[in-house]
Amino acid sequence: AKAEGRGTYRYFETEMDARLRKRRALELELRTAIDDGQLSVHYQPLVDLSTRTVTSFEALVRWQHPERGAIPPVEFIPLAEEGNLIGRIGEFVLREACRTALAWPEEVRVAVNLSPLQFRSGTLFQTVRRILFETGLPATRLELEITEALLLERTDNVLATLHALRALGVRIAMDDFGTGYSSLSYLRSFPFDKIKIDQSFIRDVASDPEAVAIVRAIVTLGGSLGMRVTAEGIEDEAAVGLLDAVGCNEGQGYFFSRPCRGEDVPVLLNRAREG
Ligand code: C2E
Ligand code: CA
Ligand code: CA
Ligand code: CA
Repeated sequence: AKAEGRGTYRYFETEMDARLRKRRALELELRTAIDDGQLSVHYQPLVDLSTRTVTSFEALVRWQHPERGAIPPVEFIPLAEEGNLIGRIGEFVLREACRTALAWPEEVRVAVNLSPLQFRSGTLFQTVRRILFETGLPATRLELEITEALLLERTDNVLATLHALRALGVRIAMDDFGTGYSSLSYLRSFPFDKIKIDQSFIRDVASDPEAVAIVRAIVTLGGSLGMRVTAEGIEDEAAVGLLDAVGCNEGQGYFFSRPCRGEDVPVLLNRAREG
């Protein structure tokens, strides 16, 4: 990339370098972000579609960078996974979520996302049990969301950990259902408590008969396997009516509420109660 006339190649190289440098820099900054209090957890309600009551909140991590501003989790979670930081971040979110949920009405649960890499340490079960003990949150009020990327690992350790968590009373949900290439086979390998239909199927559900057919099929499947079915990414009333009509149990999305700060959860619950 030194010769004249190969400028395009050189440009390409530097752009790649710049992107890599930014990633490395972000990864380094992420290491200190936890200790510096730049990470926080926001909460988005899940609503029972037939009673329209809040059943739980999903915990979603947020990074407020002092100079770069808000960095979305889709950008920094992969960095955390590569940089071996996901264990610490996952533990931070779990502790924060359990502590926050303790102040909510006891019928309201909290759902926490797990990265497949958190299972690799071999200590996930002990970590969850310890945090439940330390915070005092009953295991039955905790739900863990996993994606099928985890089950791709198909190790005995993964299944044993899921079974042990479930035996404690923790619920297990399969997230982003329908986006992977073998979602169906995973429903046989583990008895999930809940399936969350990915937002890509919900986005056009009010206008797209194919999307409705797929959602209806997932609801039937979930029902016959004894799993609750949640729709993610609900943005309008029309979708709520339709999803309720096909028997979907629960919904989540901007139509009900955007993710909010922990302090705002009681306000949101009161508003929901007053109708
Ligand atoms: P996810 O688990 O599928 O979470 C749902 C995402 O959809 C959230 O984005 C949420 O803000 C967004 N969302 C909710 N309702 C709507 C809607 O009506 N319309 C649209 N367009 N979006 C909606 P967020 O918070 O940016 O998180 C993105 C992803 O990052 C999550 O997807 C999850 O995979 C990951 N993530 C977030 N927090 C954590 C965490 O604490 N640990 C791990 N391992 N992953 C996390
Ligand atoms: Ca999730
Ligand atoms: Ca999801
Ligand atoms: Ca997703």
